[in-house]
Amino acid sequence: MDFSFNEDQILIQQTFQKFCEKELNYEYVRWMDENVDFPPDDLWKKFVDIGLLSGPVPAEYGGQGMGVVDTMIAYEQICKASMSVALAIGVTTGFGLRFIHELGTKDQKDTYLPLLAQGKFKTCMALTEPGGGTDILGALSTFADDKGDSWVINGQKVFITGAHVADSLFTVCKTERDVKKSMSWTTIMVPRETPGITIHKIGKISCHHCESVEIFYDNVVVPKANTIGTRGKAFYEIMTVLNPERIGVAMMGVGIIAAIYEYCFKYVQERNAFGGPIGRFQILQNYLADMYINLENSRNLTYKAAWLCDHGKPYHLEATMAKLVAAEGARHAGTYGSEIFGGYGICNEYPVSMFLRDAYQIQFSPISNEMSRNMLMQFQGLPKSWA
Ligand SMILES: Cc1cc2nc3c(=O)[nH]c(=O)nc-3n(C[C@H](O)[C@H](O)[C@H](O)COP(=O)(O)OP(=O)(O)OC[C@H]3O[C@@H](n4cnc5c(N)ncnc54)[C@H](O)[C@@H]3O)c2cc1C
Repeated sequence: MDFSFNEDQILIQQTFQKFCEKELNYEYVRWMDENVDFPPDDLWKKFVDIGLLSGPVPAEYGGQGMGVVDTMIAYEQICKASMSVALAIGVTTGFGLRFIHELGTKDQKDTYLPLLAQGKFKTCMALTEPGGGTDILGALSTFADDKGDSWVINGQKVFITGAHVADSLFTVCKTERDVKKSMSWTTIMVPRETPGITIHKIGKISCHHCESVEIFYDNVVVPKANTIGTRGKAFYEIMTVLNPERIGVAMMGVGIIAAIYEYCFKYVQERNAFGGPIGRFQILQNYLADMYINLENSRNLTYKAAWLCDHGKPYHLEATMAKLVAAEGARHAGTYGSEIFGGYGICNEYPVSMFLRDAYQIQFSPISNEMSRNMLMQFQGLPKSWA
């Protein structure tokens, strides 16, 4: 068993480490968090130039055809610098790539994959509704009426990350009336500028430079050609998007733990109390030790899930565990990291407070920690504990 990165992977790691030190230092990240609701265009162009957006796009569509492990190596550095930026990339490129590459027609692939690689096409996934995200099968009511050559959509989505800047909203709708709920969903690509769409921002404590918004659909007319995947089968097909999403979100948790650990490790050696550095106090060392262990565990699980995905093996269990362990590790790091910083732990001047706020977002999104635990035991063969 070899856990080390090969030479190419070390190069990816070093390249993105340097990129983040230069382009995503905390001063700039803090400026974004206080001033913008999505990374600015000039930063986006730098992502394009360094190949961050084209990396996972297959070579025949103008990308580099990087696997999930290699993509995660680059992504880890971004996650460590800013979870908002990592999210912005994940929702706009990650969702679009999976929906179109895995489920799209030849025409859709030819049209949109090169644009994704060039950073000229932004997407989002509009699945969750106000009635509930965990029981989404029970809650989903946005309806697309079949009008021959077009769909007419009415309904509401909530917490949709990046929808306010997306070119196209990948909207999961009910399209069938008299069938089982699990056979009634269809994904439809809805251009954001289509008449009848209204977007409202939601105030929240986390990820200020990648907002999540409410979307209202009022008689929104979209051509049938915008259907993604198989009509009525989206509930099953969307797993090809949701499972990789868990790997990406797990990496956000890894990034948060790593960042907080590094800031704290430095701080305990510089800050003095009672005649010496606070790093000599055993209780603070224990906080750091737990962060260190959580980092190792969540990082290993995340890369294992990515490796399984690259090798065409089942990975939903590992992806779910990785998300859970990384999310709880990130929350722990945020809580105890801010303790280590004392009063400065809740001040914007220091990055720990931003990471602490951001860590909360991944406790329940894209899947809650409670539901992750339910599913893990269902996968092991215990009776389904919900529904
Ligand atoms: C900032 C943010 C960004 C998001 N981005 C997106 C996005 O881009 N696209 C998108 O489609 N969605 C997005 N989501 C939605 C996210 O996936 C949902 O918030 C998540 O699925 C939880 O749904 P909910 O918030 O409605 O909570 P609920 O489903 O109402 O859950 C409330 C509580 O009940 C618990 N619970 C529910 N059922 C059970 C059970 N059977 N057993 C034990 N506990 C249970 C949950 O674990 C949770 O603790 C985002 C959410 C947020 C907050």
